[in-house]
Amino acid sequence: MASHTIDLLKQELPVQQDSLLLNGDVKTGLVLVDIVNGFCTVGAGNLAPRQPDMQISTMVEESVRLARAFCDKKWPVFAFLDSHHPDIPEHPYPPHCIAGTDEARLVPELQWLENEANATLRCKDCIDGFLGCIEKDGSNVFVDWIKDNQIKVILVVGICTDICVLDFVCSALSTRNRGFLAPLEDVIVFSRACATFDIPLHVARAVKDVTAHPQELMHHIGLYMAKGRGAKVVSEVSFGALQ
Ligand SMILES: [Zn+2]
Repeated sequence: MASHTIDLLKQELPVQQDSLLLNGDVKTGLVLVDIVNGFCTVGAGNLAPRQPDMQISTMVEESVRLARAFCDKKWPVFAFLDSHHPDIPEHPYPPHCIAGTDEARLVPELQWLENEANATLRCKDCIDGFLGCIEKDGSNVFVDWIKDNQIKVILVVGICTDICVLDFVCSALSTRNRGFLAPLEDVIVFSRACATFDIPLHVARAVKDVTAHPQELMHHIGLYMAKGRGAKVVSEVSFGALQ
């Protein structure tokens, strides 16, 4: 998609982005969405990038930076891992992130989280991680994590901005609005630590049953939709000492 077209659309659908300073005065939890090989590592599977992808590698880099900082400070971290039973397809997607394969594992830069007492890892077999947290007894692992840690703000990062990140953010906001997520007040999406996949129009046209998904535009639309549902969007996250 021509860059002037994207610029025009961004003018028509503006997303105001602030910067966030975390100094420990508000209990904040980090939520990592699907930073697994199957979505992030070149050539790892049907939904992985085919070639090195700047938006995805920046997302991974920033997410690792945040995860390290949160764990150093013993602040809570929650990581979703897309993970599917081989016999249960997830329409409309081709098979991906089959449980037990490398695709369903965190990217190498984040695998240390598997042994991190501070982090809660949750495999999910659906797009919306909030729904993926519902247990057989009706309890919800994510809701319990918020309550157990008395989290007031969640900072959400990961992939895809317009799919799994967006759906999770929308569910969290609706649940908060209904009064079931106390003491959670704010859902913040960190734009530079989110990414989506790229299927340019000329590629989609050449392949049957493939829909175009221009990366930069769909990433922007994901942020725009999240903001419209009540999330805050930030373009910078820094850490500072409590004054
Ligand atoms: Zn999936």
